[in-house]
Amino acid sequence: ATRPGVAPREAATHCPYCALQCGMVLREARGRIEVLPREFPTNRGGLCQKGWTAAELLDHPERLTTPLLRDPATGELRPASWDAALDRVAAGIRTVQGGHGRDAVAVFGGGGLTNEKAYALGKFARVALRTRHIDYNGRWCMSSAAAAGIRSLGVDRGLPFPLADLGRAETLLLVGANPAETMPPLMRHLADQRERGGRLIVIDPRVTATARQADLHLQPLPGTDLAVANALLHIALTEGFIDRDYVAARTDGFDAVRRTVAGCWPAEVERLSGVPVADLEATARALGTAGSAIILTARGAEQHAKGVDTVTAFINLALALGLPGRPGSGYGCLTGQGNGQGGREHGQKADQLPGYRRIDDPAAREHVARVWGVPADDLPGPGVPAYRLLDSLGTPDGPRALLVFGSNPVVSAPRAARIESRLRDLDLLVVADFLRSETAELADVVLPVAQWAEEDGTMTNLEGRVLRRRALREPPPGVRTDLAVLADLATRLAAPVEFPTDPRTVFAELRRASAGGPADYAGVTWERIDADTGVFWPCPDPAGPDSPRLFADRFPTPDGRARFHPVTHRPAAEEVSVDYPLHLTTGRVLAQYQSGTQTRRVGALRRAAPGAFVELHPDLAARLGVADGDEVRVVSRRGELRAPARVTPTIRPDTVFAPFHWAGAARANSVTNDAVDPVSGMPEFKICAVRVERVES
Ligand code: SF4
Repeated sequence: ATRPGVAPREAATHCPYCALQCGMVLREARGRIEVLPREFPTNRGGLCQKGWTAAELLDHPERLTTPLLRDPATGELRPASWDAALDRVAAGIRTVQGGHGRDAVAVFGGGGLTNEKAYALGKFARVALRTRHIDYNGRWCMSSAAAAGIRSLGVDRGLPFPLADLGRAETLLLVGANPAETMPPLMRHLADQRERGGRLIVIDPRVTATARQADLHLQPLPGTDLAVANALLHIALTEGFIDRDYVAARTDGFDAVRRTVAGCWPAEVERLSGVPVADLEATARALGTAGSAIILTARGAEQHAKGVDTVTAFINLALALGLPGRPGSGYGCLTGQGNGQGGREHGQKADQLPGYRRIDDPAAREHVARVWGVPADDLPGPGVPAYRLLDSLGTPDGPRALLVFGSNPVVSAPRAARIESRLRDLDLLVVADFLRSETAELADVVLPVAQWAEEDGTMTNLEGRVLRRRALREPPPGVRTDLAVLADLATRLAAPVEFPTDPRTVFAELRRASAGGPADYAGVTWERIDADTGVFWPCPDPAGPDSPRLFADRFPTPDGRARFHPVTHRPAAEEVSVDYPLHLTTGRVLAQYQSGTQTRRVGALRRAAPGAFVELHPDLAARLGVADGDEVRVVSRRGELRAPARVTPTIRPDTVFAPFHWAGAARANSVTNDAVDPVSGMPEFKICAVRVERVES
């Protein structure tokens, strides 16, 4: 039940789920919490089903309100006091580090944590635990676009322009993005674009809800986007669409790319990808002749073992056409998780310190160590990306203890059964969450933490806009904030410095730590966010402007120029074979979010999307003797998933699709491939080789 009188009865805040961070008002009335949409530049008064129902989890009967400790006698998780739970965690950490060294304890964070929590978690790992092993689930979200953006454009900010710019683009190309299902209010910006006479082109192996609205839909074989991008650039070259003045004045390296794409014959790319030459030409012309054009990538292009190169190919195309920095034009990535952007800027990533600084940069180490009040030499070096970290757990050279905050890798990791067994091998698994996720079920200690409406903080959305998350009420009795948990553990571990528990104090420290870095928050204050619709980083000066649009005059590289990088198509890490003749691709559905820990427990969402399914083309279904609704088994070299068949012409006959929100037998990630991109560490979620069998009843 709600507790009147504890906090303001109304809070203007943002949705707890995706990176669009739709504005909403929470209102506590007659013992119930209502969600009302709020006018905000990203959602313009709209919310999707997930946002409308977000408050249901606040008083959910399955909400955790007491710590749980695993009883060694019975193996059950049993309620315990906070002191007993935190003592157990601290003692476990001391034992593991005493026996195996500091790096034997690892931390795994989440892209839904506020900026303050992401920052505190990075500091906790490096200062309280002094381990190099920290990474987060955002590594599986947009890390390929992040790495490509940094190497080509000098910075990773999902969209280097406000979302409203989408409405001004004459041509909009979406690659592996399905916002009509993943971020429905974003479609209002696309509707603007259409009303102004703009063209929408979608590249996606499925006829998605977004693709159905497109003027042109290219439906390539999964894993061939890079070849498609190079073919588009090939056509742009041969038809004279290259902005030669822009290329000469603002970029380096075009000649090498020109030579590479000269050999990407559209007819060959048609054979490889299945996209007709006429569609490739129409796309290149729509981009090349437009007065303004935007290219956006999302997980479909990025979640591959060649994800960085695929995104790079689209950035090459954007640069060759002179788009980045031009009004109503550019390249951007649609980040997925609520704080996927901020989560990667403040030190949750294995290779980074706050401000999006590299942890192996001596000057960055000096600066951040000074803010933290510790010697720079005491800061550990870079760790390893998320999958490598999880896959090393419990092995002779890997960490023996793991602290998980806001993540559910048992469902969301690729090759999930293997990661599940790694987690079972640990000496100590600690999970901080507000629900018993599948990962929490394996934990030795579960710590119940506050939800989004119960604490203040900031988030950074897909535009690089820093927002205020405002508390409606305090956490229920028995529940603590993540910041309080980290502070208490730091004290128990005799950390050399204090860890503040007040998010405003943490943000003030974050601003100092980020000052001078690529993601500079020094000029971002809560007051300033409150006075406007957020603040775009970089914003180095409280009295100076923020940065809604990047690249107008220069790129944030040492010489101010963007870099072309030649990239060539290569096959997926796993190709089809006689035994595994089909491609599996995975993704999301409108009414569920990520590993489903939250949305599977919301009544309306469960009714809208009650379970997993496997999409098959009618031709394939006929060949396999599968009817709509039949239970099928999707088998890869790593495992299998079982779910009802959904027979639909919206998928290619050589490809099947499964959403990844469900656990147990329907867990899609039991099947996915754990091959990772060598630069970003992104696993190849979007393609693996499978066979499909009808399950005889
Ligand atoms: Fe929440 Fe994203 Fe839906 Fe907006 S689009 S209501 S942020 S889940």
